[in-house]
Amino acid sequence: NGLKKYFPITGGIFGRKKGDVKAVDDVSFYVKKGETLGIVGESGCGKSTTGRLLMRLIEASDGRILFEDKEITSMSKSELRKTRRDIQMVFQDPYASLNPRHSIQQILEEPLIVHGIGNKQERKKRVQEMLEVVGLSSYHARRYPHQFSGGQRQRIGIAKALMTKPKLIIADEPVSALDVSIQAQVLNLMKDIQNEFQLTYIFIAHDLGVVRHISDRVGVMYLGRLIELADSEELYENPMHPYTKALLSAVPIPDPDIKRETILIEGELPSPANPPSGCAFHTRCSQVMDICQSIRPVERNLNGHSVACHLYE
Ligand code: SF4
Ligand code: MG
Repeated sequence: NGLKKYFPITGGIFGRKKGDVKAVDDVSFYVKKGETLGIVGESGCGKSTTGRLLMRLIEASDGRILFEDKEITSMSKSELRKTRRDIQMVFQDPYASLNPRHSIQQILEEPLIVHGIGNKQERKKRVQEMLEVVGLSSYHARRYPHQFSGGQRQRIGIAKALMTKPKLIIADEPVSALDVSIQAQVLNLMKDIQNEFQLTYIFIAHDLGVVRHISDRVGVMYLGRLIELADSEELYENPMHPYTKALLSAVPIPDPDIKRETILIEGELPSPANPPSGCAFHTRCSQVMDICQSIRPVERNLNGHSVACHLYE
């Protein structure tokens, strides 16, 4: 609720503060148990920062994060450690998060050791179980990360996230680095695992196409702000914000009978260090009005479909 993350910009020889990059600027949303919330936006929109804030890998500048009625933002270190068993992350580049000198056994049992779960034998058994859950075999435990393909490494990243039996998984662009054919496999695997273990997902992506089939609801971010959020079907069929409309027009439609005009987003993405006044999208919006340049649109909720744009006020 009201989540903000400002990174200070310092400069000059005295390192004086010159201003803030508002990486996440007053973002609020909830995720229901068992559902998947997709969060979509271009790079630099604050979606990854939001994911890291939720886990308190970085500290919020302002706002509150609640997980099952417990406030993550005010937890002590030991409470936070306990809660982190329940919330795990899957990263875009599994290779970077897998220590190349550690065997898969060592990599997968690490979260259990950190949280003091199980003895050696139990850990070994859990590693074998989770390798099978993600479609690998127990003999893979003796191998090393470089012996696997990108898709297999992401399966290992997913197995690692599952080790502590989490309730919520925050997946930050988990398939962006993979070939399109492999993407579908990993998405299907994640969907199956969600059903099997009753997991809740926050699924971060830069492309509306990727999250379409996995998400129950989808939020769209632009320059640190959440500009639209709705049930998936509603968002894809009835996008309201001009930015969402433009993003969607770039997603190919499988049915060739449906014609859709491609809306081009003009201009470059402005720097998050110096976002436009008023509506941050006004420099690129085809429907820009006078008010958009000076007044920031507030979020309006129209039957569960929320949008921040002056066109709907
Ligand atoms: Fe475009 Fe104005 Fe809506 Fe922003 S508030 S998206 S500039 S119409
Ligand atoms: Mg990112």
